[in-house]
Order: sequence, then C-alpha cells, then structure tokens
Amino acid sequence: MIRMDGKEVSAYVREQLKNETAEFISQTGVTPGLAVVIVGEDPASQVYVRNKHRACTEVGFYSEVHALPESTTQEELLALIARLNANPAIHGILVQLPLPKHIDENAVILAIDPAKDVDAFHPYNVGRILTGNYDFVPCTPAGVMEILKYYHIEIAGRECVVVGRSNIVGKPQALLLLEKNGTVTVCHSHTRNLAEVTRRADILVVAVGRPHFIGPDMVKEGAVVIDVGINRLPDGKLAGDVDYDAVAPKTYAITPVPGGVGPMTISMLLRNTMSAARTSIRVNKPCLR
Ligand code: NDP
Repeated sequence: MIRMDGKEVSAYVREQLKNETAEFISQTGVTPGLAVVIVGEDPASQVYVRNKHRACTEVGFYSEVHALPESTTQEELLALIARLNANPAIHGILVQLPLPKHIDENAVILAIDPAKDVDAFHPYNVGRILTGNYDFVPCTPAGVMEILKYYHIEIAGRECVVVGRSNIVGKPQALLLLEKNGTVTVCHSHTRNLAEVTRRADILVVAVGRPHFIGPDMVKEGAVVIDVGINRLPDGKLAGDVDYDAVAPKTYAITPVPGGVGPMTISMLLRNTMSAARTSIRVNKPCLR
C-alpha cells in the first residue's frame, strides 16, 4: 500500500514554482502578485490567510493582505476588488470565504476579474473548466490531480467515483477526471446503494464532510482512495471522510488526513497565480475588463 504524501508532493510543486518564478521575473521583469482579502476575525480563516501570504513570499511572489473589519460593507469590499482588478501589480485576487452574513458571496465572486480569479469560482472560469480550455482550476481538485500525477496513477479508462458534488470540490473534480478520460460517476446524498457504487471505483475521491464515512466494505480491493475531507473531532483531532486505518490495507494507494490533499491547496493557489501572471504578459493587459 502506498501512502500518498501531500506534504511531499506540495514541497515538490513549490520547489518547481520557486525556480519558475525566478526565471519568469528575470525574463519579463514582472513579479507574480497575489492579493488576499479577509473580512472579519474568524481564527481559522486568519491562519489560512497567513499561510497563503507566507507561501507566496517563499516562492518569490509579491503578496499583500487586506484584512478588513467585520463591519465592512459590501460596497466597501466591492470597491476594494475594483481597485485590485485595476492594479497591474496584482495578478491573482483571493477573497477568503466564508464572508460575514451581510455580504453576498456571489456578488463578490462575480466582481473579481475572471483573469485574476485564482480560486476559479467565477462562472466564466467554471465554464472554461467544463469545456476543458482553462487557465485555473479550483485549488482542491487541482491538488488531487497533482497527487495522482505524482504517484503515476493511471486515470484513462478507469472507473472513477467522486462522492460529493459541491461547486468547489466534487463537481470540478469529476470534470477533471473526465478530461483525463476516466469513466466518472458522481455520488451525493440522494445516491441509492452508495456502497455498491463506491465498490466499483478504481479511483475513489471522497469529499463529503463526515468523519470516517467510508469504511472498508465500501472500497474495492486494490483501489486508489483520495480523502478530501477535513473534520474536527470532539477531542480536537482532525479526521478524514475515510476510515484510514480500516481502509488502507485494502488499497493500492491512499491519502492520509492530515497530510494528504490539505497541503496541496495553497500550492495550487500559487500555481494559479503564476498562470495568471503569465497570461497577463501574453495578452499584454492585466485584466479582462
Ligand atoms: P459540502 O458540504 O459543500 O458538500 C458535501 C457533499 O457531500 C454534498 O454534495 C452532499 O450531497 C454529499 N453528501 C453528504 N452526505 C452524504 C451521504 N450520506 N452520502 C453521499 N453523499 C453525501 O462540502 P465540501 O465539498 O465543501 O467539502 C467536503 C469535505 O472536504 C469537508 O470535510 C471539507 O472540510 C473538506 N475540504 C477540504 C479541502 C482541502 O483543502 N483539503 C478544501 C475544501 C473542502 P448533496 O449535494 O446531495 O447535499
């Protein structure tokens, strides 16, 4: 059984990006720039934002954090986004979700210039993923694909089952596996005989948000299992959606939680920012609007 180590893959991606960034800056004089916007005091979000800022600095990007108070109005946030859209030093804009309840997340996502939408949540970028002609992929499913690539997992022609159909994980995940010629089934809370479907999977990706939801009876012998779930247990520990200890012996390869898909997310954000910087040079204008 292979324990697919997201920290190792992430370190590999960041090392590559570091070299790529140095080369890009020396060739173009442009430093890839990411703006991270956070509204309110949510402690988990603040940790994510700090980590993103640090990761940018480590690979040689320019990065700025806009920490706004909880009382920020939607108009004030949209005005900041408009300024970032127009700023040529900024190639990627990430608004940390969730936002306070008085702000319409959808309006904020729509306001971000699609050319700078490094989270790939804007409908323009979602549509481009659907057609297979994209610059950005949402960071978590992109991280899953990178892990599969790193461990030379063949996708073409194999049964791929994705459990979960959220806009940020399950749906884009299914599209990416389909693009790589997997035979893809998507399961959700209305799926009948779930175990029967998951047992068909050569590659099983689970993004449900329920600790230890997938047990050994739901997994085929020799399957590849990717656990996207991050669940906080009552004792404070993190658990995945897959019962790792019980399932791992049956698998060909499996990701742990923590240390699997989680560490990949920021690396994919950095990669999207690099892509945005490259595109801004290619089209010789910083944004689509
Ligand atoms: P959502 O809550 O948005 O989606 C959960 C999905 O699971 C839904 O499609 C839901 O179905 C499905 N589901 C719920 N119960 C069942 C069930 N009994 N049987 C089958 N399907 C079910 O979650 P996210 O996609 O945002 O996140 C999923 C998990 O991944 C969470 O643990 C989250 O913390 C983690 N996560 C990890 C990230 C990382 O960086 N590693 C990033 C993002 C998320 P339905 O649509 O019918 O309701």
